[in-house]
Amino acid sequence: MEEDARPVSGPVRGGSSSQASCHADRTSVSAVPESISSLKQLAASRPRSINDLLRSAGLRWRVRLVHRMALQIRDTHHGRIPRGRRELEALAGVGPYVAGAVRCFAYGEADELLDTNTIRSASRVFGLQATDSSRRSRVFRDALRSLLDRGHPREFNLALLDLAALICRPRSPLCASCPVCTECQYGRRATLSRELRQ
Ligand code: SF4
Repeated sequence: MEEDARPVSGPVRGGSSSQASCHADRTSVSAVPESISSLKQLAASRPRSINDLLRSAGLRWRVRLVHRMALQIRDTHHGRIPRGRRELEALAGVGPYVAGAVRCFAYGEADELLDTNTIRSASRVFGLQATDSSRRSRVFRDALRSLLDRGHPREFNLALLDLAALICRPRSPLCASCPVCTECQYGRRATLSRELRQ
């Protein structure tokens, strides 16, 4: 990834899982002005001007982290966003979710994405108990990895993010409209109880 590549683009969201849907994330990130389209420019900016640029995207709380990250990429990685998970997670403000998203969406790597929404869907599909630490859980990582379409990781992860946010909602999931209902433990139970009520 070249230095001029947009440092914040696509469905990569801000570090930790938020309550916002991935649709909202894409909308807000796409609102980042074009004037921060260069990592070099970002690294050279004062935090106050980065604040002005990120405010419209609702990312104001990440200003200092974004600035530190840009400096690290400029100084440690010759202005190129690293591809390796370890190198990515060593950047300021980058955790497993963002590292996986960068690897998948920017580099096409077959990485699974663990966030609140995908974990919720995986917990329902596989009948697993989700906890606060599930984002770092090997069980959930392996579960999502087993679903991943390794030939089309970008498409798969975008579809999963949409499914988790829009259909497999936290409350009242739309199991009757879900394309994976027959593969899902929760969905099969929901279908059975619906049929019993009829
Ligand atoms: S069937 Fe229901 S619980 Fe299962 S993934 Fe689809 S929406 Fe979620």
